[in-house]
Amino acid sequence: MSGTLYVVATPIGNLEDITLRAVRILRDADRILAEDTRHTGRLLKHLAIETRMTSVHGHNEKGRVDRVLDWLSEGQTLALVSDAGTPAISDPGQVIVAAAREAGYKVAPVPGACAFVAAASAAGLPTDRLHFVGFLPGRPGRRKKVLNAVLPAGGTTAVYVSPHRVVKDIAVAIEVAGADRPACLCRELTKMYEEFDRGTLGELHARWSAKTPKGEMVLLIAGD
Ligand code: SAM
Repeated sequence: MSGTLYVVATPIGNLEDITLRAVRILRDADRILAEDTRHTGRLLKHLAIETRMTSVHGHNEKGRVDRVLDWLSEGQTLALVSDAGTPAISDPGQVIVAAAREAGYKVAPVPGACAFVAAASAAGLPTDRLHFVGFLPGRPGRRKKVLNAVLPAGGTTAVYVSPHRVVKDIAVAIEVAGADRPACLCRELTKMYEEFDRGTLGELHARWSAKTPKGEMVLLIAGD
């Protein structure tokens, strides 16, 4: 008897953005491993799902590994979710996924929403080559190093940015790629105030320095 770990994508805003398969697996699983049980609880309530939950987040993920492997050894079906989008993509999950796979259990993705894919799909910048760097590191030198490693490679680069860092992140991108590089700030995707702000990095820097940035954002930077 051997269990399965499903890695289940959940909505990044609009609650309708969840697949039929994800709903079935969340309903039929023995247990949902959730980044924040209160947050996922709201989604489950909306879907009328009553599966029990256990919290697995950035701070306790390593400590949960043995228990998760025990559940899999008992033959349980587990569904791993994060607060929004695809688990393990700039979110907890990777440690549990690696441990389950290493131990030989079946690990299966249940694909769905992912913010940088949604952003790239609708921004109108080239998508034949796409680099995903997640959040840039905190230290300015390191931020520049990450962008220096990918921006000269061509293709579009996707960066997760927080509202209080967006102007600084655009400024670092300008240092690496120049103010004339085409870009798009993709904000609040699938939500009421969804916005795709297209322009050069210089134009975006000027516009977003002049207001108080709010909401969730993906910065796309085109290749040269
Ligand atoms: N696992 C998620 C995914 O699959 O995209 C990413 C989680 S990460 C902790 C959260 C970041 O993703 C946000 O700070 C923002 O950069 C981006 N993001 C999430 N939802 C978004 C949305 N609705 N619109 C724009 N960006 C979003």
